Amino acid sequence: MEELIERIAELIIESTRLVVFTGAGASTESGIADFRSSGGVWDKYKPEDFYFQRFLASEESRERYWQMSTEMYASLRDAKPNRVHIAIAELEKLDKLDCVVTQNIDGLHHKAGNSREKIIELHGNALSVSCLSCSKKYDRDEVQDRIRKGVKVPRCDDCEGLLKPDTISFGQAMPVRETNEAYKRSLDSDLFVVVGSSLVVQPAASMPINAKQGGAKLVIINREPTPHDGYADVVLNGPAGEIMERVLAKVKGENQALMKISRTPEKEL
Ligand code: NAD
Repeated sequence: MEELIERIAELIIESTRLVVFTGAGASTESGIADFRSSGGVWDKYKPEDFYFQRFLASEESRERYWQMSTEMYASLRDAKPNRVHIAIAELEKLDKLDCVVTQNIDGLHHKAGNSREKIIELHGNALSVSCLSCSKKYDRDEVQDRIRKGVKVPRCDDCEGLLKPDTISFGQAMPVRETNEAYKRSLDSDLFVVVGSSLVVQPAASMPINAKQGGAKLVIINREPTPHDGYADVVLNGPAGEIMERVLAKVKGENQALMKISRTPEKEL
C-alpha cells in the first residue's frame, strides 16, 4: 500500500488541475451509511421508494418518502467531517485543488472547510428543502420540526406546493449548471481522483472516463473494485480515511521540501 500512496502523492504534487470525485464511501467513516455496502441504505429500503415519479404520483408515496428521508437525515445532520473531507480541505489550503465533485448530499465538504466555489454537488444537498412549484427555499431543520409535530407531507407556506429536500432523486433531472461544470472541470483536469464510489450511478460515474478522455491521470481509491478500474493509472482498494490521511501527509512533506529548495540560495544547493 505504501508504494501506491507515494505514487498518488507524487501525482498530486505534479498536478496543476486536480479534481477529486467523492461518493458515499467518503462519508461512511462519519457514520453515514452508503447505498451498496452490506448494512447500507439498500439493505433497509427499496430504491423504487426514492423514485421522483413515485413522489409526484401519490400522497401515500410522499408520506413514505418523508418517513425514510427523516430517518436518514438524523445521521446526516449531526455528522462530522472525517479524514477524507479534512484531507480534501487541506489540499485546497495547499492550493492543490481545482474542485471537488461530489455525489454526496451530506454537506460534509462544506463543514470540512472547502470553499463554496470549489464544491460541485451533483446530487444536491439534504440540508435544505425547496418547494417544487415556486422554488421557495426552507431550512431543513424547520421542515423537520413540522414533521416532528405531526405533519406527514409538508407543503409550501406561499403556494401549497410540494416540499422536497434539495437532493436529486432517481428519475429527477440532474442540476444543469453543476452537471455541465463537473463535465467541463473533469475534461480539463490533469489528475482525477475518485474516493469512495462504486462508480455505477449515472451520469456521475461517467466523469472519470470523461477526465481520462481529456488526458487526465485517473486514481481510484475504494474499498472494493469498480467497473472503471481498467481505465485507472492507480487503483488502491482500502479504507479511504486512512489512505487520504497518509496521502496528504506525503503531499505536505514533499511540498515543504520543494518550498525549502526553492528558498535556498543557489550557492548553498
Ligand atoms: P455507493 O453506495 O454506490 O458506493 C460506495 C462505495 O464506497 C462502495 O463501493 C464501497 O465499497 C465504498 N466504501 C464504503 N466505505 C468506504 C470506506 N470507508 N473506504 C473506502 N471505500 C468505501 O455510493 P456512490 O457511488 O456514491 O453512489 C450512490 C449514490 O449514493 C449517490 O447518488 C449519492 O448521492 C448517494 N448517497 C450519498 C450519501 C451521502 O451523502 N453520504 C450516502 C448514501 C448514498
